[in-house]
Amino acid sequence: MSKQAKRILTCVAWPYANASLHLGHVAGCLLPADVFTRYHRLVGNDVLMVSGSDEHGTPIAVAAEAEKVEPSVIAERYHALNSKALLDLDIAFDLFTRTSTDNHREVAQGVFLRLHELGFVERRTQQIPYCPTCDRFLPDRFVEGTCPHCGFGEARGDQCDNCGKTLDPQELIDPRCKLTGDTPRIRDTDHLFFKLSAFERKLLDWIEDKKHWRPNVMNFTRNWLKEGLKDRAITRDLAWGVPIPLEGYEDKRIYVWFEAVIGYLSASIEWARRSGDPDAWRLWWEDPKALHYYFLGKDNIPFHTIIWPAMLMAHGGLTLAYDVPANEYLQMGGAKFSKSAGRGVWVSDAVERFQVDALRYYLTSIMPETRDSTWNWEEFIERINSELVGIFGNLCHRTLTFTRKSYGRIPPLSGLVEDDAQALARIEEAQREVSAAYEACEFRRALRGVMSLAQAGNQYFDKKAPWKLIKEDREACGTALHVCLRILQALAVLSAPLVPASAARLWGFLGNDPPISWAGAVGDLPAGRELPEPAILFRKIEPGEIEEGGGGP
Ligand SMILES: [Zn+2]
Ligand SMILES: [Zn+2]
Repeated sequence: MSKQAKRILTCVAWPYANASLHLGHVAGCLLPADVFTRYHRLVGNDVLMVSGSDEHGTPIAVAAEAEKVEPSVIAERYHALNSKALLDLDIAFDLFTRTSTDNHREVAQGVFLRLHELGFVERRTQQIPYCPTCDRFLPDRFVEGTCPHCGFGEARGDQCDNCGKTLDPQELIDPRCKLTGDTPRIRDTDHLFFKLSAFERKLLDWIEDKKHWRPNVMNFTRNWLKEGLKDRAITRDLAWGVPIPLEGYEDKRIYVWFEAVIGYLSASIEWARRSGDPDAWRLWWEDPKALHYYFLGKDNIPFHTIIWPAMLMAHGGLTLAYDVPANEYLQMGGAKFSKSAGRGVWVSDAVERFQVDALRYYLTSIMPETRDSTWNWEEFIERINSELVGIFGNLCHRTLTFTRKSYGRIPPLSGLVEDDAQALARIEEAQREVSAAYEACEFRRALRGVMSLAQAGNQYFDKKAPWKLIKEDREACGTALHVCLRILQALAVLSAPLVPASAARLWGFLGNDPPISWAGAVGDLPAGRELPEPAILFRKIEPGEIEEGGGGP
């Protein structure tokens, strides 16, 4: 790690292991986290990117009930499918683990006990819906009803999908058992509560200097704090989950929201152990200068800007979030991508039908960074064919084939005229612009910066008209092609976080050895170097390849 290198922890919201990943999830948090991490690795920062399958909680217990299998069967199935989907999409985690590991259980119980010992956990009697037919308490997702905040009729006991507010099951109007539809009775049961209310002032002070947060994240957080913080139950009546490390709670489990956020810490610890340096996680978690970034969808904001920071404050000695660049939703045909509603385009299906970099490109271009956005199949074809193939791919193809055919090697740069110098200066400008965009987690802007350089490259190529120039002035033509090759080199570097596989190929077409380095964007290309045989970078998509909807998981 060099002197100026930053230490960055990229935390990605843990996908539930109760369904296959869909493209909405990819655009929402997985891809932005990956693009961000790849950028910081290229510039030489020390990045650790972790996440895993959230295997506990009622979504999986509910799915298991429906299939009449053990919850672990469901979790195992989707952890395997989703791990593969992430590899297929080139999402480069340092560790993608799961909450069912012994390590996670130990770390989660450790945090639980510490908060308990420090007096931040309190026993209280709660009135919980109890289903007489099922003969048990109905924790969050086992009960549905009308949202007390917005009136949405299908709010779940843990959260309303319509207004995003988190809920307690007993707050629902007209509650019903998810399994039988019966109206539950209310019964007393003892639970442990985290004293979240004790952190209201501290959290307000903490967000004071977070001027770099996205407005949606800051507004959501401020509004939550303004409404006042309530203490939250961290245990519930369920057999599936992390056991409570205290006597008298054998039939209860730690509430999933509480242990899942601890996953960022437990995954870092697991990564360190696997890397052979079991204490390495401390460099990220015990150094206040380490920068922690949390990537997630907007429904997850309060857990990452209020609840998890409060838990870390209670624990003490651990680093808090630097930024929480939460995304809005990606819509599909006007409706939110949702696993529970069965809509979406499944990753496993999409990667079989299209180039992974084409999917990454289009998903980045419509990333819901500031408002909801929509996946549109016609637009997907249009953007890939006219931009990725027509602008980026075209500049690569015509530069590389013409140079190889006419010179065989990289021609020297000599006798620069004004537009050559301008084109070279444009590369440096693009590197500055695109760097700033990646740093600010504005990935759509980074992509536009890359494409604008490719566009400028095509304009320069057209103006120089090497097919004519070569007959008039072979040396000037060689210079023009050298400049075009330098633009390609810059494109390979600047686009590497977005379309990593294609960028690596382009880097190789210039005769460069892997890996790509960020400084390479403005580096020299040695005149006289032989150019290897290039190939098509991006495949054109035929309209017939698109059928509305895609297949199921
Ligand atoms: Zn029931
Ligand atoms: Zn609501």
